Amino acid sequence: MDVERTFLAIKPDGVQRGLVGEILARFERKGFKLVALKQLIPSKELAEQHYGVHKERPFFEGLVHFITSGPVVAMVWEGEGVIASARKIIGSTKPLEADPGTIRGDLAINIGRNVIHGSDGPETAAFEIGLWFSSSELIDWRPSDYAWRVE
Ligand code: UDP
Ligand code: MG
Repeated sequence: MDVERTFLAIKPDGVQRGLVGEILARFERKGFKLVALKQLIPSKELAEQHYGVHKERPFFEGLVHFITSGPVVAMVWEGEGVIASARKIIGSTKPLEADPGTIRGDLAINIGRNVIHGSDGPETAAFEIGLWFSSSELIDWRPSDYAWRVE
């Protein structure tokens, strides 16, 4: 399995509900490597680009309004198969259908307030990382327990 990078973002509901630490811990404990992390209130332009694939959908305007309504914790995580694995850890888009044990299954009820975003494939991951972060914000580092992870 290739080492990949994915873009994850804790949405304003997750930040407002005090779930940042809880969510970060799940990816840390799994063994993925944090490459970038920042908190920001996204501009309308950024939000519209990020959710550009959904621009014809009826929920688009509300989604952009919500995602720009408060702080978002934007992250890049790295590891083998991290793109698909993070989507599994996040769970289904509809929180009531998300399995218990997933972030949305454990922490959310409403599709419009489903706590976290995760890239859905290699192309979206590359696009979203480039959209939210400059290359100087992506930190190359080797965890001190690296040898224990890859053997
Ligand atoms: N969304 C919504 N209503 C819908 C479908 C989606 O509010 O009927 C929101 C929801 O917050 C979701 C986001 O739009 O997380 C992006 O939708 P997508 O289908 O890409 O889901 P995701 O990739 O986040 O699971
Ligand atoms: Mg999506």
